[in-house]
Formats: sequence, C-alpha cells, structure tokens
Amino acid sequence: SGPFRQQGVTVLGATGSIGTSTLDVVARHPERYRVHALTAHRSREALLAQCLRHRPSLAVLDEEHDAAWLRERLAGAGLATEVRAGEAALVEVASAAEADVVMAAIVGAAGLLPTLAAVRAGKRVLLANKEALVMSGALFMDAVARHGATLLPIDSEHNAIYQCLPPEHRGGLSRHGVTQLLLTASGGPFRGWSSERLATVTPAQACAHPNWSMGRKISVDSATLMNKGLELIEACWLFDARPEQIQVVVHPQSVIHSMAAYSDGSVLAQLGNPDMRTPIAYGLAWPERIAAGVEALDLFRVARLDFEAPDEVAFPCLRLAREAMQAGGTAPAVLNGANEVAVDAFLAGRLSFPGIGELVAEVLEALPVEAGGDLETILGADARARQAARERLQGR
Ligand code: NAD
Ligand code: MG
Repeated sequence: SGPFRQQGVTVLGATGSIGTSTLDVVARHPERYRVHALTAHRSREALLAQCLRHRPSLAVLDEEHDAAWLRERLAGAGLATEVRAGEAALVEVASAAEADVVMAAIVGAAGLLPTLAAVRAGKRVLLANKEALVMSGALFMDAVARHGATLLPIDSEHNAIYQCLPPEHRGGLSRHGVTQLLLTASGGPFRGWSSERLATVTPAQACAHPNWSMGRKISVDSATLMNKGLELIEACWLFDARPEQIQVVVHPQSVIHSMAAYSDGSVLAQLGNPDMRTPIAYGLAWPERIAAGVEALDLFRVARLDFEAPDEVAFPCLRLAREAMQAGGTAPAVLNGANEVAVDAFLAGRLSFPGIGELVAEVLEALPVEAGGDLETILGADARARQAARERLQGR
C-alpha cells in the first residue's frame, strides 16, 4: 500500500466547482486517498455519478426524498454507500472519525456549521467556503487553535500567501518581518466599466468570468469585487493581519495568485495557471507536494503581467467589506448575509447589478454592530441581515 497511511477524505459540496476539482485530484492518488463521504444540496444526479465513480462510505443530500432516490439507485448498482439527509447528517460526516481531511466547499453561510464541526473535530480542514470564516472569524480561528485542527486555505490568493509566509506565521505578521499582503484580483468581467454601463449587466454576463470557471454565487461576487472584499476579511483572520496591511492589486492575467512583502524589500509571489487543482493539491498533501493535473506555467505564453488599482467607486463592495472588518463584531456576518440575499435577487432578475452593493450598504447602515462573537450572536446577525435585505428588496 505504499509509504503512506491512506487518508479518508470528506468533500462537503462535492458536486460544485471546487468539489469536482477536489475529486479530480484525489482520484489521481488512490494510494494516498480514499473518499469517505460526499455531500450535495439538491444535485442528486451529479452526486449519483460521483458515488458510482468514487464509492464513498456515505453520501448526504439536503432532502429525504432525494436521499431515498439516491439510496435506491446505489443499492441497485450494488454499492454499500449509506445515504443520509439534512444538516445534522452534514455536521456528522464533517466530524466522522473516518475522515482525516475535510474539504469545506459548500457555498455561503450554509457551510458554517459543518465546517465548524470539522474544525472542532480537529481535522485537516481545506477551507474553500470563505463565507464561513468571514461570518465567524474570531470564533473560527479560536476553534482551530483549541481543537488542534490544521487549517489550509484553498482560496487561491490565501493559498498563495500561505506559501509565501514562513511556516510558523501565527501571532502577527510584523513578528515575521512581513509588512504587507498583496491580494491580487482579476478585476472580474467588468473591469474598466463605468457605473452607467454596469447598470445594464445581466446574470449571464456576470457568470462568465474571464479566467476562472466557478459556481454562480462566487462568479457574481467576483464581478462586484465583493469576492475580493470577502477575501480581504478572510486574509485578516487567516494571517492575523489588519485591513490596512492588505493591499488589493488588480492583475488581469491571474497568474500571480498573491504576494507577501517583507521589511527588507523582498516581495514573494506564488505563480501558476489559474486552476484550483493547484491549491487543492497543496492543501491535500501539505507539507508535501503531489501532482494536480495542472498544465505547467508557460511564461512565454503569458508574456506580460499587468497591475492596476481597483476602482472602488464603480465597485463599492470592496470598500464595504473593508469597513465591515474595521467595524468588527457582527458587521462581517451582516455584510455576508445581505450579500447572499442580494446575489440571489440579482440572479433571479429582481435586482440590478449596482443594486447589490446598494442593498448591502443599506443593510450595514441599518443594523447596529454587535460585539461578542459567540455562535448565537453570529447566526442572529446573519438572520437579521437577511430579513432586512428581503424587506428592502420588497420596497425597491
Ligand atoms: P458551487 O455552487 O459550484 O458548489 C457549491 C456546492 O455546495 C455544491 O455541491 C452544492 O450542492 C453545495 N451546496 C449549495 N448550497 C448548499 C446548502 N444550502 N447546503 C448544503 N450544500 C449546499 O460553488 P463553488 O464555486 O464550488 O464554491 C464553493 C465555495 O468555494 C464557495 O464558498 C466559494 O466562495 C469558494 N471558492 C470557490 C472557488 C472556485 O474557483 N469555484 C475559488 C475560491 C473559493
Ligand atoms: Mg479567490
């Protein structure tokens, strides 16, 4: 069986863009990894295909009637996979003893409880679900430390920064001579567009990202730059940074995935083709390196690397996120909850593209910032933000 003990892998959000890429990397290394559990929300056909291919011990869907459908087909195919339904089952598979590694790739606040469960069970947690950390920052990082979890960032920017920092970088960046984190951004599909032109943007346009193929929610977030705002908050928590220590740099080629600047003038960068299998493979194998199926970077084909400042007037979401982080307490959870409602409304054709930032700003202004980062306070703030956003949508 080779030099390694085979690791059990659970993929939360297996049918999504990150989940699919994770299974692609895992399947390249059958001697290292065995799939323990796969979860999806509603996409039962996709989960069925993944179960037939990867033969997990467990599969989870949101609703019992979908679970029953899957159970019947898997039994028919002679598989012993156990199929469960609902959030309690998600939390259980995230903390199951058979899982050494948990990929947190559910989109949005729905991923918070299962991701936290994996952290509290002391797993190696591969964090793609940035919304979970944005909402619960201090509580989340505290649980990582308290339960001895190994947290590896999968978001390509944070994975890049992680690779550019010294191995033991907890306890403040300045202790390690780091002066600034340079968070790169593609600028999204509407880079350079005026506010007037942005008012005409359709969901189909927003979901067509120039460099990355991703789920619909993060595609819209990339287009509004809210994604970069969420990533700024994510970086503050992951690397003990203050918002002022993070500079967002628009870099349209998406070849430099982010950088760390040091007091001696050195700037370390991580480069690669824009393919999420690179950070996923890094997280799976850290501190070792494994093949990810990613094409080698051809710098002659890249030819040039461009940089520019973000336009925070036409794209206010980045500024809103920075301000929410500076406000602290429940402000990031409010920002995130309002944004999730706004993005859904935009995708459903009920809100204009600039309306997303406007709605988030209104909700942030309306709700007071609460201190105290316990789970109840965070979930309460999330629920109030969603409620406030829905009320304002009705009134628009
Ligand atoms: P996606 O929409 O493609 O997939 C989401 C997955 O989560 C699916 O398996 C879906 O079934 C499941 N899911 C959705 N809602 C759920 C719910 N309410 N309960 C349980 N499961 C649910 O999304 P994605 O692009 O793979 O992104 C996943 C996460 O990774 C997001 O937080 C995103 O910000 C982050 N991320 C994605 C990329 C990327 O390249 N796609 C890059 C960096 C970070
Ligand atoms: Mg990213």
